[in-house]
Amino acid sequence: MSERNAAVLREFGTDLEITSFPEVEPKAGAVVVDVTHAGICGTDMHLQRGKLPIPLPVVLGHEAVGRVRWLGEGVRTDATGAPLHEGDLVSWASNIPCGTCSYCTDEDEPSLCETRKVYGINQSCAQWPHLSGGWSEQIYLQPGSTIVKLPEGVTPEQVIALGCAGPTAVHAVLDIGKPQEGDVVVVQGSGPVGLAAAMYATMAGAAKVIVVGGPANRLETARRLGVGDVHVDIFTSTDVASRVAEVLAETPDGRGADVVIEATGVPSAVAEGIDLTRKGGKYLVVGQYTDHGPTPLNPHLITRKQLQVLGSWAFSPANHLHHVRSVPRLAARFDLSQLVTRYDLSAVNQALADMRSGATLKPVLVSGEVS
Ligand SMILES: [Zn+2]
Ligand SMILES: [Zn+2]
Repeated sequence: MSERNAAVLREFGTDLEITSFPEVEPKAGAVVVDVTHAGICGTDMHLQRGKLPIPLPVVLGHEAVGRVRWLGEGVRTDATGAPLHEGDLVSWASNIPCGTCSYCTDEDEPSLCETRKVYGINQSCAQWPHLSGGWSEQIYLQPGSTIVKLPEGVTPEQVIALGCAGPTAVHAVLDIGKPQEGDVVVVQGSGPVGLAAAMYATMAGAAKVIVVGGPANRLETARRLGVGDVHVDIFTSTDVASRVAEVLAETPDGRGADVVIEATGVPSAVAEGIDLTRKGGKYLVVGQYTDHGPTPLNPHLITRKQLQVLGSWAFSPANHLHHVRSVPRLAARFDLSQLVTRYDLSAVNQALADMRSGATLKPVLVSGEVS
């Protein structure tokens, strides 16, 4: 059998190494996919630096699209029931929940499952089948994976453009924040999660979406794509009190937003977000995926405003499915592929550096065919 290249993180804080692994034929219920597009997300930078406990060595990459190479015995359809064939373009949920714990069953919140497998995060490539991350020419999808064919007329770039931010926003905005038709929504943060949240808030019927973020090039991208109706730059509007006043002035009678979604990853944004939420409104914290420590806030405001303070962690396979099936509608409204900057798989360290510097919004590693 031939060998396939993958980008391996061997030690925290070091560059990834391109390493080759032997191809593995799928066992019953598994699927082997030739990866064509794999996204880099903010979490990958934290993983590389050792901010989250993961086993090493690991092939990183938890968001990807590829072409089915081999179907294991018994696999005939994708997660929607559509016939699946070798050669089909597919995407897959990055995680496989256990399916038996209380979160997976009684709570119906598999994103909280504590023993779920996550491709490109908690599956070490030291263990069989080795090709267990997306930054690779090939990935082995275990039985139980949620695999979905790309919808008709949709390109791999449109599917990968939001990466894991797409299903993260489906879970946060549609399952938990639930903005209503006509709501004013503030999104704090203009990275992929912020932009995806703004898109889903608009699609859910929000009357006005105010994006508070930066730097200027990110907000310019948002404007160009039509993401958000009002854009406030935290790099030019640096005084918090006047920035809060500026945002409140964009809400009906200056009352504050019906729903405020935090997608910054910066703890101090939470106090500001509470100031931006109207009485009886919802404040949804989704961006604090990595633990950056505590932050001062005034809990009196939560009581006095009678706020609903909500959190959202990661996403379920069903959220991934929902996102992929939404891509035709999203792509009709927003030019998703403009978010993408392509890199060859061998340039993975450059792509990470550009992500870290903010030069690119969504670096995508391409291998094999490029469409
Ligand atoms: Zn991610
Ligand atoms: Zn579980």
